[in-house]
Amino acid sequence: MNIVLLGAPGAGKGTQADRLVEKYGMCHISTGDILRAAVSEGTKLGKKAKKFMDAGDLVPDDLIIDIMRERLQQPDTEKGVILDGFPRTTTQAVALDGMLTSLKRPLDAALLIDVDPEIIVKRLASRRQCKDCGYIGTDADKVCPNCGGEMYQREDDNEKTVRNRLDVYQKSTAPLIDYYRGCDKLITINGEKTPDEVFADVEKALNL
Ligand code: AMP
Repeated sequence: MNIVLLGAPGAGKGTQADRLVEKYGMCHISTGDILRAAVSEGTKLGKKAKKFMDAGDLVPDDLIIDIMRERLQQPDTEKGVILDGFPRTTTQAVALDGMLTSLKRPLDAALLIDVDPEIIVKRLASRRQCKDCGYIGTDADKVCPNCGGEMYQREDDNEKTVRNRLDVYQKSTAPLIDYYRGCDKLITINGEKTPDEVFADVEKALNL
């Protein structure tokens, strides 16, 4: 099964992807995670991407498309992928269609996790992530409830950058909702419920 997760930053895409991985062993690809790893390792890609990420802007399409083209060649993706944070522009969506067609792996669904922007701003201000296992929690989690690791706040989760990320989402990524509706692939999930309730809706929507 090949799925695109759509939704604003903080809508819960990473949380739902983690659950799909844990329960169904799906292959989760997050372009944000790939870029953050490149930044912290100080690679050429990381150096190019950092200034865009710090400002909450999108990294140029050609860089991201190259990363995904390479990633989708890897054997762990053959049984299907959950794409989280990609595509984010129509150019990326068209490129993805081309990649999946040439790999003979059709897209099953684009799952939109829908959350009001004001709820997102509040959520992201209190979002914390585990340095060791990537668990996504809140500022109430003093240590990671999953592995006991240290929780940290992402650099781009400050209010100014979050507002810009939401503007960028509205301008560049929200048009993908119509793109996937037009291909008859769009499924909309209410992302304002608890993570457990959202996950139950995701499973139902995907007939899992
Ligand atoms: P995320 O973890 O998905 O919120 O992504 C964090 C940041 O990485 C974004 O604000 C962008 O700067 C960059 N990024 C992640 N995925 C993409 C993408 N598909 N296209 C462009 N930039 C991206």
